[in-house]
Amino acid sequence: MTETLPQPASTTTPVPTVETVLGPVAADALGTTLAHEHVFVRTPDSQTNWVRDWDDEAQVAGAVERLRELRATGVTTIVDPTVDGLGRDLVRLRLVAEQVPDLNIVVATGVYTYTDVPHYFTYRAAALPDGPDPMVDLFVRDIREGIQDTDTKAAFLKCAIDEHGPTPGVERVLRAVARAHLTTGAPIMVHTHPGTRSGAYVHRVLTEEGVDPTRVQLAHSGDSTDTDHLAELADTGYLLGMDRFGLDVILPFAERVAVVAELCRRGYAASMTLSQDAACHFDWADPDLLAALPNWHYLHVLRDVVPALRELGVEERDMTTMLVDNPRRWLTTPSLHHRTGHDGRR
Ligand SMILES: [Zn+2]
Repeated sequence: MTETLPQPASTTTPVPTVETVLGPVAADALGTTLAHEHVFVRTPDSQTNWVRDWDDEAQVAGAVERLRELRATGVTTIVDPTVDGLGRDLVRLRLVAEQVPDLNIVVATGVYTYTDVPHYFTYRAAALPDGPDPMVDLFVRDIREGIQDTDTKAAFLKCAIDEHGPTPGVERVLRAVARAHLTTGAPIMVHTHPGTRSGAYVHRVLTEEGVDPTRVQLAHSGDSTDTDHLAELADTGYLLGMDRFGLDVILPFAERVAVVAELCRRGYAASMTLSQDAACHFDWADPDLLAALPNWHYLHVLRDVVPALRELGVEERDMTTMLVDNPRRWLTTPSLHHRTGHDGRR
């Protein structure tokens, strides 16, 4: 065995990277990031049965156009939490990403349900309370090896709880996500329903599983005007997704902006991300219903939200914190580069 001299730390610390559709990129290169956007949200089973006019080529071309338009505004990264239950298909998404190579698209693994697990999982080890859930291995494989036999690796884990509350299916997925996180270090995004304070339930389960709240983003926190509740979650360490700008039917624009401005005023800029939860294609509603949401698109945050926050006194430094630093910190897996990445500023 040859003797090796001690190396300076700087040469042994790998540059932190984040996985995207087209491969790993340096975390420092993520730049302006929308932390919660979709490209295609589909219901493949229903589309196979009922949709007669799906044109894959046109859908891909349309998505490329929308994403190029977004990239032209200065956004360099989107985080896409489309998983099982939302019609994730990396084969189609790669066709889009290859045509917009200067926009990073960060993708997830996980299961999206408000109630039961997808039937595929119903009898797969579900009856064993402490047995290994096959979901965990599938999530880990997506993170370590790639999704759908592509080279694209998932960078984070996604699950959901909504107004239906903590059903057994919701809890099963949340625990599977927690265990895949502990195995891989990949961060977690939980779709939450702040109106029913589901964050408290998420915190209880994730604490039981041993998950550090600073690795978890609570999506849709921005649907609430309860700033004390949100501040409490932020104090616990959670990152708050103020991520549905444009979904004015759930909470109007002025109120969404006011909540973010108030939390910035109270020193919580380091605990928030800004996004829209928009998509190029979203098959849950008829086009005329979507037409009633004219601001629900990729460009709303930079075009309308940031100027409105500025009007309310939010400083440029805080905009950068919410749009650049926080998504990067959350996405950068500490175990891969031996640092916390949490600057603690709030
Ligand atoms: Zn979403």
